[in-house]
This record gives sequence, structure tokens and C-alpha cells, in this order.
Amino acid sequence: MSDRIQLLPDHVANQIAAGEVVQRPASVVKELMENAIDAGSSRVKLIVKDGGKTLIQVTDDGFGMSPTDARLSFERHATSKIRAAEDLFNLHTKGFRGEALASIAAIAHVEMQTRPADDELGTLLKIEGSEVVAQEVTATPAGTSVSVKNLFFNIPARRNFLKSHKVELRHITDEFHRVALAHPTVAFHFYNNGSELFNLPATSLKKRVVHIFGTRTNEKLVPVEEQTQVVGISGFVFKPEYARKSRGEQFFFVNNRFIKSSYLHHALMAAFEGLIKGDTYPGYFLYLEVPPESIDINIHPTKTEVKFDDERSLYAILRSAVKHSLGQFNVAPVLDFDHDRNLDTPYAYKDKAVTAPGISVDPGYNPFRQEPGHLRPRLRHPVAGTSSQWEALYTGLDSGERETLGSSSLRVESDTITGNFFESDDTLDRPSGTTFQLRRKYIVTTIKSGMLVIDQNRAHQRVLYEKFLKSTTIRNAVSQQLLFPLHLPYSKSEMAVLQDLMEPLKAVGFVFGHGKEDQLEVTGVPIMVSDSEVETVLEAVMADCHQHDETEGYSQADALSKTLCRTLAVKAGDALDPASQMALVDDLFACKETTLSPFNKPVYVTLTERDIDKKFN
Ligand code: ADP
Ligand code: MG
Repeated sequence: MSDRIQLLPDHVANQIAAGEVVQRPASVVKELMENAIDAGSSRVKLIVKDGGKTLIQVTDDGFGMSPTDARLSFERHATSKIRAAEDLFNLHTKGFRGEALASIAAIAHVEMQTRPADDELGTLLKIEGSEVVAQEVTATPAGTSVSVKNLFFNIPARRNFLKSHKVELRHITDEFHRVALAHPTVAFHFYNNGSELFNLPATSLKKRVVHIFGTRTNEKLVPVEEQTQVVGISGFVFKPEYARKSRGEQFFFVNNRFIKSSYLHHALMAAFEGLIKGDTYPGYFLYLEVPPESIDINIHPTKTEVKFDDERSLYAILRSAVKHSLGQFNVAPVLDFDHDRNLDTPYAYKDKAVTAPGISVDPGYNPFRQEPGHLRPRLRHPVAGTSSQWEALYTGLDSGERETLGSSSLRVESDTITGNFFESDDTLDRPSGTTFQLRRKYIVTTIKSGMLVIDQNRAHQRVLYEKFLKSTTIRNAVSQQLLFPLHLPYSKSEMAVLQDLMEPLKAVGFVFGHGKEDQLEVTGVPIMVSDSEVETVLEAVMADCHQHDETEGYSQADALSKTLCRTLAVKAGDALDPASQMALVDDLFACKETTLSPFNKPVYVTLTERDIDKKFN
């Protein structure tokens, strides 16, 4: 039999390696920026076009390369950073595999211009799909500039797999943040499609954080500082009250290298235990210094995972350092999660002119007792197209009586009524018009065949969802103008996200003024939103849009309506007065879909008389 094994040609090997190193434009940004840092640069400029798909260019003022080095830098396993395997355990640089440039050049059109400060002339090198197409002597500033065009030009499957420009740009921005945060003493510029996104002067860590995430960040930060033999920790955590539902500003750096570590994240969450709610995450920017020989960063090709020798001590030290800071800065004791949130955000059915009930509540009131004849269920006229569901539930209402159902007869609730809950008497075959809130979670009401137990949160989600969706699609949103416009500071990247959401937000009733570059002016809000809720709502919208545009076939209007309804709906635990309970029931059954929440969860369950009878057998 003839021999069958062949060595892969270099360009094929490089393409395969590229698959590991370069997943998307952001990976290129990371590698090029890290090379610039390793070259001892004090200024680094990043320019991208079309989310990096058309162009990524990184220019630095570092030590540059000789013509030979420039050529060699594109060879696989060509690195100036280690000479022997032992060097791996004493790394002070970002790179060491000597793979990045070779991989990038295998799958893109790359151009490099480089000059060491001492040389008069520099080198220009062009490589396309691993092939050197030009090498020339050139006049160029000291330092290095690498531009990468048409990423994945020769791997269409990968190119097609890339997301929208916007999404790719966000990944790039994330990488940019990581590198910029790890090196506050280096100045960074970042341009996208000709406009400047970030201009970060060399500064302190704290100012770097503030420059990136906006002036408002300053007041959120609590410093963390701890020096032990195992590890030095410095940096900042957000005060607990700024914990967010979304995981955003969470950064660990080990020896100035951004890393992901669920283990360390856990230590941090442990430090915040009891200070933040279970479904929120604290922000943090923490820098760990450990002896280089005590970690192994070689376990992952993109080098964001690290293995520590002494994980357990690290965990304990980190947790106590953060706890200590929180205690020292007095942020711990002021929090009180037991307070009744109904007190500061009372549930009001804002879009509805509810007549204030001029009654005193009868302490002996029993919702399960009622008197025939006094029933005036405050139903709306069923809207066309919804009447069938309505009627299915409320059979027995003759149309004549419907006409007389006003929305003002609030006295119903206080009437002391006698009667039988499941009376089969004809006059009682109707909705009771009476509701009852169970454990501040469910609204119980009766129907002909038995009773309905309605999940108040899901019901309200459904109601709000349909309202928002309707206003975005038929564009009849009703806004209430704010007496005092809100001025909300946001970072540049947040503003960019908000810009993309402007149109749908306007469609649901938000009105924006001409704010400044890093400030959003809100002059009007949808009628269902109060001004105190605006920030929460916008934050939720931004957090969600991050997830949404990753998924295919996403409709912005639908996604926005879902976010809004989830954020604004009454929650379990909210006390509802009888008028609000009834209004909610009414509104629910005026919806197009009543049985499922916008997130496909059942809204209510029906308990028939028979179901209950069975229990007594
Ligand atoms: P690594 O960074 O792992 O060594 P790379 O493929 O990223 O591998 O780079 C190969 C080599 O090219 C580096 O070791 C470095 O000597 C040189 N190099 C790359 N980028 C620059 C730059 N911006 N300035 C100076 N030298 C560079
Ligand atoms: Mg490198």
C-alpha cells in the first residue's frame, strides 16, 4: 500500500489555526491591540469600518520592526516573546504563541507598515491569504500600523456567519474596553466609520473607567485594595445599589490581562451576598497581580481563561477584600430590602380614568358573598374580535345588560352581599364583578362555571404588551409631556445603543429633546410610564437589545413591547386595591389573547365547580 499521510501546506495549516484565533472581527482587534501594547506603545489608535468587516486598522507608536522581523512576524510560531517553553512561566506580555499575525494573514488582506524609531525608513508589507504580494521600503512614522481588510474573504462560510455591523461593532467595543481598562497609562483612540467613539487620554485607572463608562460612574465606585503574599488586588466595585439585572461592567484582570473566571466571579457575588437582590449583578473592575509563575494562561487559544495555582486562597482573599471595602465605605448598612416597594411605587392604573371610590371599606367585606341584583360588573364593552373569548367566560350576560355596565359603579366592592358563589340560579350566571387578591399574587374572580385564578403579573404583562405593540404598529402612542425634562447621563457606547432604539422608543410614546453628547434628554414618556420609571425602563431596554439582535428574525417592536411590559407590569407582592384588580381583569379580557402571557406562560387557571366538588369526595 502506498503512503497516505501528507503534511498540510502552510496556508492550509494557517487557515485551520485561524479558526481558533479569529472568530470574528473583534478577535482581530484584540490581537492587534495586544501586539501594540506589547510593543511598549504610549498611543494606540483603532479604526474600524462596517463593524470590522471591511477594515480594522491598529496604529501604534511602539518599537516597530526591522524588515526581517516584519516578514517573520507573519510566520507561524514566530514570536519575539518567548524563546523556550520555560519562558511561558514568566510572561509579562500578552502574546507568546506567535500565531495571531499568521492566522489573520491567512484569512484576510493584510497590510503592515512599520519602522523602529532608530531607522530612517520603514517597511511596507502586503499579504493576502498567506501570500506575500508586496514588500517595499517606505517612509512611515515610527511604530507599527496593521490594517486588515475583507476578513474571511476566502472562507465564505465564516463571512456569512458574521452578524450585523452593529453587533460586530459591539463585540469590538467590548474588546476595546478590555484592553483600554487594562492599560490606563496608554492613550487610546477609537473610530468607527469615520466618527470618533472614544478618545481616552493616558490617565489613572479610576478616570479611565469614568472616561469609558460615563461621568455618572464616578459616584458608583468603591475602591478595593489588598496586598497579600499570594495576590495583590486593586480596583473598584460598584456600590450595591447600582447592581444591575444585566451582566455588563464586570472585569477581572490578572497581570493586566482581561480574563473570564466564573470562580472569581463567584467570590465576588459572595462578597455582595445579602447586599444585592438575587437576580442582579454588581459591577466591578478588579486587577489581580500574581507572580507570573503561579498562573497558566496557556490553556486557551484566545487566552481569556487562566488557571491559578492557589485558587482557594485567591477566592477567600478576594471575597474578604471586597467585603471589607463595602463595609469601610459604609455602603453595606444603608440597604434595606425588606421595605415595602409598594410604598414608593404604588400601582396606579394610569391610562384609565378610574373614578375614585367615595366609600369606606367594609371590614366585614367578603368577596365570596354577594347579593343578586346589586351586581354591576364593570366590564368594558367587548372590543370587536375579542368578544368570543370574553363570551366564553362570561356567558349569561345578556347584551341588554351589557349596555348598562358603567365603569363607575365602584360601590360594588363594598356592598355586603349575600349569595352563593356557585349558585346555579340564572340571575347569578355572570361574572361576579368581584375580585379578591390572593397572597398579593393572584386575582380571584368568578365565572359561570366556577372561578378564575389570574396571575396578576402575567395578566398585566399581557395587557401592557398589547398596548405597546398596538401603539408601535398603528403609531398612535399617547405621550405625557414631562413638566421637568429628564437629563440622563450615559456613556458613549450606551448612547450609541440608545440611538438605535430611538425610533421604536418614540413609537411607544417617548419624546426626546436635543441632549448633549453624553446626555439623553427625555421630554415626554408613554402614558403607562411614570418619570421615576424612565431610567429603569431604558436600562432594561438596553440590556435586552443586547440579547435580541443576536437572534434571527427579531422584530424590534415586539422585543421592545416585551421588555416594557416585563419591566412595568405589576409584580407578585404588589398589593392591588379592588378597583385596580377589577380594571386589570377587564383589561385582560379585552386583549386579543388572554390565556397566555407575552412569554407564553399561562395567565390564569379555571377551577370549575366540579373540580372543587371532587376535592370534597
Ligand atoms: P505573538 O504576539 O504571540 O508573539 P503575533 O503573531 O501576534 O505573535 O506577533 C508576532 C510577532 O510580531 C511578535 O512577537 C512581535 O515581535 C511582532 N509584532 C507584532 N505586532 C507588532 C507591533 N505592533 N509592534 C512591534 N512588533 C510587533
Ligand atoms: Mg500577538
